Amino acid sequence: MSDTIHAKVLILGAGPAGMAAALYAARDELSPLVLTGPEIGGQVSITATIENYPGFPDGVEGPDLVARFREQAEKFGARLVLDTATEADLSQRPFKITGLEATYTADALIIATGASAKQLEVPGEEEFIGLGVSYCATCDGHFFKGQHISVVGGGDSALEEALFLTRYAETVTIIHRRDKFRAGPLLQKRARRHPKIRFLMEHEVVAVEGDDVVQSLRLRHTRTGESREHPTAGVFIFIGYHPNSDLFEGQLELDERGYIVTDKHMRTNIPGVFAAGEIADSRYRQVITSAGMGAAAAIEARHFLAEQE
Ligand code: NAP
Repeated sequence: MSDTIHAKVLILGAGPAGMAAALYAARDELSPLVLTGPEIGGQVSITATIENYPGFPDGVEGPDLVARFREQAEKFGARLVLDTATEADLSQRPFKITGLEATYTADALIIATGASAKQLEVPGEEEFIGLGVSYCATCDGHFFKGQHISVVGGGDSALEEALFLTRYAETVTIIHRRDKFRAGPLLQKRARRHPKIRFLMEHEVVAVEGDDVVQSLRLRHTRTGESREHPTAGVFIFIGYHPNSDLFEGQLELDERGYIVTDKHMRTNIPGVFAAGEIADSRYRQVITSAGMGAAAAIEARHFLAEQE
């Protein structure tokens, strides 16, 4: 039998939302326990430079920001545990979370499990993960020094990460299924001006091909249906994210895409269970908004616990 650890406030996830919630709950002397999940910092830990988090006029590297979040939360007494929740029982209080290492009970629960990169779901994609298929420019960009690589997607992530990849690659071809980008105007301007960036609009990837490693992409023109081979040493896929909410299906109210539904005070349909960050936000998805939601969730958890006493 694994140990059972009780926390007044249990926080699932250690991205900006989870860490901000931990900081606030710790300063309120609620001794929060954070189950970090597989990656401390979540998506921020694999983001190159963050230029739009206030207080860092020259930008801040993702892993550096994560380290600062952690240091600040721990300084006030938050405890981080390297464990991942595998089951949740929210039917009664204390809520029960089963992890890989232990079982946890909590008087209040803040869910900040974030979102994960979507896959194209085409032949070859899964097979070549780590062999030329990547979802993380910061992690894998340096493997492609001086090479010709591709980025799939037309949103802010695709353009921002394509710009980052120009540090290493000789050329970066952005492959997008429409003739217009979803990304904001500033990123579009930067990408269009960049001498290493090429564009292949109105094309979708139908297969990733190669022998031992990725060598090419099979593309289809989205209007004409014409097929072509696009040689590439690597492909970085940034086509959006899906919320990590499987654990709560059938217990918490989720929207049609799986995001946890909250009111404006981060409250879910179960009193005492709060959700913050990208698990509950498909619209803003910013470090600052996630951190703000985390802080709000911690304040609401404090109110909730005070009402229970
Ligand atoms: P996104 O805005 O949802 O864009 C996803 C892109 O991938 C879209 O261009 C979409 O094409 C394309 N796509 C989706 N499924 C596809 C498929 N199966 N095959 C091919 N292409 C596919 O996702 P995101 O770029 O990750 O951004 C998400 C949110 O985070 C946004 O709100 C964004 O503003 C924010 N964000 C902000 C920053 C920043 O402020 N610097 C940086 C990163 C992210 P269509 O356009 O045709 O739908």
